Amino acid sequence: DHRDLHSFPTRRSSDLVENSLDAGATNISIYIEHGGIKSVTVIDNGHGIEEDDLYMAIQPHATSKIFEAEDLESISTLGFRGEALASIVEVAEVEIRSRFYKSDEAKYITVKGGEVVDKGDCALSVGTSINVSSLFYNTPARFKFLKTPKGEEANVTRLINDFMLSNPHISFEYSVDGELKSQNEGTGLLDTVYSVFGDDVAENLISVSFEEKHHKITGYIARPATNAVVGNKKKQTFIVNGRIFEDDTLSSVIQNAYGERLMKRTFPIAVIDIVMPFELVDVNV
Ligand code: ADP
Ligand code: MG
Repeated sequence: DHRDLHSFPTRRSSDLVENSLDAGATNISIYIEHGGIKSVTVIDNGHGIEEDDLYMAIQPHATSKIFEAEDLESISTLGFRGEALASIVEVAEVEIRSRFYKSDEAKYITVKGGEVVDKGDCALSVGTSINVSSLFYNTPARFKFLKTPKGEEANVTRLINDFMLSNPHISFEYSVDGELKSQNEGTGLLDTVYSVFGDDVAENLISVSFEEKHHKITGYIARPATNAVVGNKKKQTFIVNGRIFEDDTLSSVIQNAYGERLMKRTFPIAVIDIVMPFELVDVNV
């Protein structure tokens, strides 16, 4: 499916980080090279993978979660996206290193084109490290469906920023071509807002806090006429129950609330975190 190839490095980086979150990680490091086309590495301090399960994890049927999940809520929180690792190992070289939290030793497997080509012991503290390289080595025609390295990089960066903002109690570290791009302490939204937007912008954000029967809304929005008001909506981030979503209605509400305080075609940076009963969420959103 060509749509699945589009932004492959971004989508697969997303899958890897989701897996780290599913594993209960509180520390996640992401390293990409050449927009993630050359390599993507995600290292976490989650519960790790038992040796036997390393082989299971790359099988297409590794996901039984959807059959266990009783309702939409559990599906959404179990992080079911299905067969991410299986689809990556088919088209790239993948090294999975992991130390299970009950184990004294770490193991690795190297998988290429779906086959295990190497395995053994390695040194690692509890958690998992997954490195994806040689993308599309066996199907080079697929490269033409990717964006340029800069385009892929921009998408991965936006993705990681979204992960940071929607998981402000997790500490992330994100590096591009060996250079540290962002890092937060995992101590809450304010710290994360500084990491994502930089000090100059974050200083011009005002905190938002509102609560009524079913909704608790917190976040940060731009002070008018400052550099926290920008030329596009891409830096407006909406989170409902821990998940990022996009919604033009909410953007319009914000735009209208500022009214005359905004110059034409400018948009306030905003991070709006909504917590509400799951059954009141329109799942299409
Ligand atoms: P899914 O997440 O839908 O089960 P994946 O292909 O993403 O499918 O992952 C397969 C399995 O590999 C996961 O269910 C999990 O058991 C294991 N796994 C993958 N990444 C990690 C990780 N970072 N930490 C612990 N376990 C992991
Ligand atoms: Mg997964």
